[in-house]
Amino acid sequence: MTHRILVTGGAGFIGSAVVRHLTDSTTHHVANLDKLTYAGNLESLNSVANSSRYQFYQVDICNAAALDKVFAEFRPTAVMHLVAESHVDRSIDGPAEFIQTNMVGTYTLLEAARRYWNALADDAKAAFRFHHISTDEVYGDLEGTDDLFTESTPYAPSSPYSASKASSDHLVRAWQRTYGLPTLVTNCSNNYGPYHFPEKLIPHMILNALAGKPLPVYGDGSQIRDWLYVEDHARALVEVVTRGKVGETYNIGGHNEKRNLEVVETICDLLDEMVPWVVRGQACSYRELITFVKDRPGHDRRYAIDASKIERELGWMPQETFESGIRKTVRWYLENHQ
Ligand code: NAD
Repeated sequence: MTHRILVTGGAGFIGSAVVRHLTDSTTHHVANLDKLTYAGNLESLNSVANSSRYQFYQVDICNAAALDKVFAEFRPTAVMHLVAESHVDRSIDGPAEFIQTNMVGTYTLLEAARRYWNALADDAKAAFRFHHISTDEVYGDLEGTDDLFTESTPYAPSSPYSASKASSDHLVRAWQRTYGLPTLVTNCSNNYGPYHFPEKLIPHMILNALAGKPLPVYGDGSQIRDWLYVEDHARALVEVVTRGKVGETYNIGGHNEKRNLEVVETICDLLDEMVPWVVRGQACSYRELITFVKDRPGHDRRYAIDASKIERELGWMPQETFESGIRKTVRWYLENHQ
C-alpha cells in the first residue's frame, strides 16, 4: 500500500532523515509540516525538495486551524509526529517552550488528527495511523544497575524535556484508549549522524575540535548513553508506522552503550587520523582539548535500551555499529562544515 505520510518536524535532525528515507527508498507521498524554529533546517532536504512525492507546509503545531487545513488538503493516511523542543540544556534554562510545543502542541495535533479521522470512511479510518516519536529519557535513570529499558519500564523523567515528552506519550496513549485513534509510540535512544544541530554532544565536539576550542565534558564524563545512527532510526520508524501493531510501544536502540568521555575520545582519535593536528611541526592529539566542566543539574547517569521487541516482531536491526556510524559522521562533518 502506498501511504500519504504527514511528517511533523521534518526539517529537524531525525525528521529530515525520515523524509529523505521515505522519498529516496519508498513510494510513499510525504508532507513535511514544520514551523522552522532555530532547530529546523530545510537545507537537510535539498536532495528531495524537487521530488513530486514531497511537499512542505510551514506551520506551528499549536495552530489548530492551520493543522485542519493541512489535513484537509494533504489527506494523510498516517502521521509521524516528530516535532518537539529537544535539547535538555535549553529545557533547564527555559522550560516554557517545552511545555507549549511538546505538550500543548501534541494535544493540538492529536485533536486535529481526531477531527480528520472521525470524518473518514470506515476502511480509511481502520487503516489510519498516528505514530508518536519519543525518547528513552522518559524512563529516567538506570544508575547502578545492569537493567535495560523495556516497553513496560515505569516512567520516571528527570528533566523538563523528558517530563514534557513523557506527558505527550501519555496523551497519545489516552487518545487511543479513550477515542480509539489508531496510535503507536516509539521510544528511542540518543541519535547521531549527519545534519545534527551543532549544540548536541557529537557535532559540538567535532566542530570545537576543528576550531581548536576546548571540548567541554560534563562532570567526569562517565554518564552512559546508548547511541543509534540516525538513518537506522529512520528505517525503524518507517517499519513501525507501516507494519507496527496499533496501540503498541516499540523501544528502539543500537546496542551501543558508551560513556560520554569514550565518545569524545573516539571523535578525537578519528580526527587525529583524518585531519592530523600539527603545532610547530609537532603532532598533537585533539584529546588535549578535553576539559571537564560542572555537571548538568539532575543529569541521568545511564540509559540503555532493550530493542528486542522491534527486532523480533518487525525484523528491524541497526545496520551501523557505533564504530562505523561515528566514522561516517565525522567524515560527513569534515566534508560539510563551513
Ligand atoms: P530537532 O530539535 O532536531 O527538530 C525538531 C523540529 O521540530 C525542528 O525542525 C523544528 O523547527 C520543529 N518544531 C519545533 N517546534 C515546532 C512547532 N511548534 N511547530 C512545528 N514545528 C516545530 O529534534 P530531533 O532531534 O530531530 O528529534 C525529533 C523527535 O525525536 C523529537 O520528538 C525527540 O523528542 C525525539 N527523539 C530524539 C532523539 C535524539 O537523539 N535527537 C532521540 C530519541 C527521540
